[in-house]
Amino acid sequence: MAQTTPMMKQYLAIKQQYEDAFLFFRLGDFYELFFDDADLAAKELEITLTRRGKGEDAVPMCGVPHHSAEQYINTLVSKGYKVALCEQTEDPQSAKGVVRREVVQVITPGTVMGSGVQDARNQYVAAITETMSAYGVFAADLTTGETYACVVEDAERAMEELLSYRPKEVILEDNSTLTELIREKSDAFITYLHSPDDTAKEAAELPEELQSGASLLTAYLYQTAKRSLEHLQAFSQYEPSRFLQIDHYSRRNLEITETMRDRSKSGSLLGVLDFTRTAMGARRLKRWMEKPLYSQSEAEERHLMTGTLLDRFLERDHIRELLKHVYDLERLSGRVSFGTVNGRELLQLKKSLQQLHPLTEILKSLDCAPAKKLASGMTPPSELINLLELSISETPPVSITDGGVIKDGYNEQLDQYRDAMTNGRSWIAALEAKERQATGIRSLKIGFNKVFGYYIEVSKANISHVPEDRYERKQTLSNAERYVTPELKEKEKVILEAEDKSGKLEYELFTAIRDEVKTFIPQLQSAALSVSSLDVLQSFAEAAERHRYVKPVFNQEKTISLSRSRHPVVESVIDAGAYIENDFDLTADQDMLLITGPNMAGKSTYMRQLALIVIMAQAGSFVPAEQAELPLFDHIFTRIGAADDLASGQSTFMVEMNETRRAVDDATSRSLILLDEIGRGTSTYDGMALAQSVIEYIHNRIGAVTLFSTHYHELTVLAEKLNRLENVHASAREDNGVLTFLHRIQQGPADKSYGIHVARLAGLPDELIRRADDILHTFEKRNRQRTKETQQVEQLSLFPEAETDHPVIEELKQADLLHMTPVETVMYLDKLQRQL
Ligand code: ADP
Repeated sequence: MAQTTPMMKQYLAIKQQYEDAFLFFRLGDFYELFFDDADLAAKELEITLTRRGKGEDAVPMCGVPHHSAEQYINTLVSKGYKVALCEQTEDPQSAKGVVRREVVQVITPGTVMGSGVQDARNQYVAAITETMSAYGVFAADLTTGETYACVVEDAERAMEELLSYRPKEVILEDNSTLTELIREKSDAFITYLHSPDDTAKEAAELPEELQSGASLLTAYLYQTAKRSLEHLQAFSQYEPSRFLQIDHYSRRNLEITETMRDRSKSGSLLGVLDFTRTAMGARRLKRWMEKPLYSQSEAEERHLMTGTLLDRFLERDHIRELLKHVYDLERLSGRVSFGTVNGRELLQLKKSLQQLHPLTEILKSLDCAPAKKLASGMTPPSELINLLELSISETPPVSITDGGVIKDGYNEQLDQYRDAMTNGRSWIAALEAKERQATGIRSLKIGFNKVFGYYIEVSKANISHVPEDRYERKQTLSNAERYVTPELKEKEKVILEAEDKSGKLEYELFTAIRDEVKTFIPQLQSAALSVSSLDVLQSFAEAAERHRYVKPVFNQEKTISLSRSRHPVVESVIDAGAYIENDFDLTADQDMLLITGPNMAGKSTYMRQLALIVIMAQAGSFVPAEQAELPLFDHIFTRIGAADDLASGQSTFMVEMNETRRAVDDATSRSLILLDEIGRGTSTYDGMALAQSVIEYIHNRIGAVTLFSTHYHELTVLAEKLNRLENVHASAREDNGVLTFLHRIQQGPADKSYGIHVARLAGLPDELIRRADDILHTFEKRNRQRTKETQQVEQLSLFPEAETDHPVIEELKQADLLHMTPVETVMYLDKLQRQL
């Protein structure tokens, strides 16, 4: 029975331990899958499903060749599956009974190491742990060894922190309460693990919280990698408040690193700013844009360096040239540590390290403090460079078992084997010439194959000339015969032995070199950090030059002064010079703008422009303006547009209110709030009432810098009583019956009869337009009254205690209205009024 053969027993025993994964079971040159694995894999991979065994006992099976297995594994993993790779771990020739097999690696969506890894993105596995009072958020990138940890108080913040890594996979304790939340907000693959230390959960102590989460994640990485991971850095805790907080929603909405529509980098802020030259730099830039700083000194240090590199363009060009030759040091370190690095990659490592010396020389010549700091981080490890220069061939093959990885002259023994091989081969070439001469067969040739080794081949036509006494027949082909001679066999033995030994020796030497490289991993990682930071800073300088950006200056006074500023992305997609520049002029005393104006006039572009400029400034970049002064912001909140909310299943209005709630809950006077058309999702009065009270609440209670765009023209009167609120509008102009949006933001509210204006341009009948004008005037009159009434309501509600003490109120409460005639009532009211 197929199921009870010793091999199948072995299979089933192993499969039992990896129930949640596809078990790729190595059989000779194939990985085979059986049972349900086979059924599902055949579908997912579109490969043929066969059967192993006969009749009723036959089991479903499918397989992939081991040399092309990686692409199949990548496909499965990218679909959210796990793959357990089970290898033969002893030589089949020397095995007694069934060859020993073991799972050597589990590949999951977050732990892919090979060609499935995307260059320009980090690949994070994250974990969240919960205690009574806090949440620990952890992230690790197995490909680069980066690790991060932080502790936050509430689930919402924990989610924000988690989502900021865009994890491919999230590890949760099996009793986690966060599953639903994560499913809803992210497409990460969730894996449950027992907390490695259950006692830690009782304790709300931070160090223990950190300990338990870090060990949860580390345990998972070791369980899947199944090897030592020298490149995995220790988890160190950071304070989320060190960074400008941008919630997940806003980050997407502001299209910082990718567009909302198709999640592409081009069309995002990152797309405009990315002039990095290395994959590490591209990843770091992305990270800096996603997590701008909330530290003036750190941001200023980046500006200083950006400015220096902007001015010193010759040096910048030179740096850019050198960076072109720097490969992905972080991921190379990862592959060294993982034991999967090959000769070509060690050559890339060497090439990369050779750039460090000239880079540090340029940095030192720049004569600025941050440049010196970068230089000191990338001290070239000369011992390692020497080793690689001496040992690794300049043209290594892809596979380390193919031979030819190690350079001539590195190892004496290897050189001897190689000599023997070369001599042997030239001896054979000479033999071929000699035998042609001796036999007179001009087409005689010496060949080699794996089964028969070296042989002399003679075509059928020439067989009669073969010296039967010396040649021994070995193989007959349709049109030729193959022979060997004793001296050929003797030489063959020498050559094959040398090849075999040199192959083994090369492999030994290679693994020794690899182990030696492992000891340099901390230095490689430090160099990677400095080089990638330098790459980002030169990219900022390059962007500043190409897009005419200026250095932003931070102030403590909460002054926002931007002259002739632009939206960095919109200006890049329209014709050069077509972008209409706009100013921002806000102070601590006037920090809210109510923006009115027709659709498509540029309101939301203007709002986003400020947010993007703030993000750029705090990430260390220069900004699109002629002059820029900004305060440092702690948090950006946005409620803009609604394009993607529909997909999430929540009602747009509910999403809108949720985002607004977040802003009013968490914003401080150092925050930036962008609210676009709040209240639009409900009935007019309802919406307008909400919009007004949101503005008032922010104005009175929070004092955050706020840009509020609205359709409700009625709200513009608020500026009269809210002294920090100012009206501006996006202007439009009519030219010979054509309406042009000027995209210019101007003082004061928009023209209220704008809609009627457009209707007139569209050619609606005069009578209709006149009627609309009349109706508008009636509305306006009513509205003025309504506003007065609301103001009275507010005055009442603002001083509730004072009002109850007023004698008129007391008297009103006592009045016996039921027993008054209408005339008496009027006289009574008149009396009261006189008392006021
Ligand atoms: P609103 O929010 O008022 O409906 P948007 O801000 O969406 O309008 O702007 C509409 C379009 O106008 C944008 O897609 C953009 O291409 C263009 N636009 C906006 N502001 C400017 C500007 N300052 N200069 C040039 N084009 C602009």
